[in-house]
Amino acid sequence: MKPTAIIAGGGIGGLAAAGACMRAGWQAQLHERAEDFGELGAGVQLGPNVTRVMHEWGLAGGLRAVAAFPAALRVSSAHDNTPLGFMKLGEDFVRRYGAPYATIHRADLLGMMLALARHEGVDLKVSSPITSVLDTGDAVRARVADRYDLEGDALVAADGLWSRIRSHVCGDGAPVSSGHVAYRGLVAQKDLPQRMRSQDINVWLGSMLHVVAYPVLRGEELNVVAIVQGRARGSHQDWNQDAAEAQLYAAMQSSPVVNELVQAIGAWRMWALNDREPVQGAQQMARGRVALVGDSAHPMLPFFAQGAGMAIEDAAELGRMLATVPHAGADTPLALRRYAMNRWQRCARVQKRSRGNGDIFHATGFMQWGRDLAMRLLGDRLLDQPWLYGYGR
Ligand SMILES: Cc1cc2nc3c(=O)[nH]c(=O)nc-3n(C[C@H](O)[C@H](O)[C@H](O)COP(=O)(O)OP(=O)(O)OC[C@H]3O[C@@H](n4cnc5c(N)ncnc54)[C@H](O)[C@@H]3O)c2cc1C
Repeated sequence: MKPTAIIAGGGIGGLAAAGACMRAGWQAQLHERAEDFGELGAGVQLGPNVTRVMHEWGLAGGLRAVAAFPAALRVSSAHDNTPLGFMKLGEDFVRRYGAPYATIHRADLLGMMLALARHEGVDLKVSSPITSVLDTGDAVRARVADRYDLEGDALVAADGLWSRIRSHVCGDGAPVSSGHVAYRGLVAQKDLPQRMRSQDINVWLGSMLHVVAYPVLRGEELNVVAIVQGRARGSHQDWNQDAAEAQLYAAMQSSPVVNELVQAIGAWRMWALNDREPVQGAQQMARGRVALVGDSAHPMLPFFAQGAGMAIEDAAELGRMLATVPHAGADTPLALRRYAMNRWQRCARVQKRSRGNGDIFHATGFMQWGRDLAMRLLGDRLLDQPWLYGYGR
């Protein structure tokens, strides 16, 4: 008998984990709370640490068909647009890290993970929230929508930032507001004046704000995210609020170049950023037959562009460890424990760097002056991160 994994959550992390379980020789049954699989419209950056995994899963062609592959990352001052830092991506990154740096629409990335899960034969259920979990020692039981119980050999919680199942493994309460609001906009490049179009990643650093723009949809559209300090008015769990554009425009007043781009985008959506402390050890990422994957394990602020990437890396490692459990009677808790041991420190490091980048990106006064000087002097030595991008090579 093949062992069975129940996956809670059909976001990028859950779908990737379900595909990886099947590739490891398990049966995977995925339960998504929403009525359908879908992602809200914003972009995601994928470093070579992530695209390498996707290539291993046979997704190189699919990625080429929908993603953009920026040739460079440019960092500039949000105040006067002076260049601060520059790093070549493109062929340089492929040579150095064996895979490209890609930028992609989240819906396209989710679509690829859904196609992978379908191709691998995952049993996919929608309108199917997992409402409680019981580890009996010999098996794990999950209750769906308070109606019926499922039984499996492992339960993978990929239920996101507001995970219910996390408390089964790590009882550290609810996420907390980071004090940032993110605005996102998407615009067809052809609708922008020529000087605002770009196939590179552009980051503008100001004081108490930063803006990131990069191409998605094969370069046809520009995804722009502006992050400012403040609090959103609506629910912290709503990723898709009507934007209070006045707050955004007011924050951009001191940044004429960025303001021009911001004004050129018609509709903005916004959401509040929330955060958690990193876990302190493997026992907070897997317990018995239950393991956490993606944002349920390590939600991270978006300042290092690695949240979806860490979810996909988690899925790959989970698959490697579950492949050591060929039949239902074998030691699943040990395999899950090994998965957590191999992942928790890296994810905690990326979480901490994301937070640290937030402080640097939004620095004011003397700190801002020091940041800009360091960027000018060190350039790509600050931007390139071999420990991150070269992972597992
Ligand atoms: C502004 C911003 C920019 C970002 N940029 C990047 C980037 O450039 N690169 C990058 O790698 N990452 C980025 N990220 C992070 C990335 O989007 C997330 O880390 C990633 O989407 C997490 O995926 P997930 O599957 O773990 O969680 P989610 O996407 O939250 O998916 C969880 C799923 O579980 C479902 N669910 C919830 N509860 C239950 C339940 N009880 N039962 C069943 N289903 C349930 C939900 O409906 C949802 O579909 C960014 C994030 C933000 C906020």
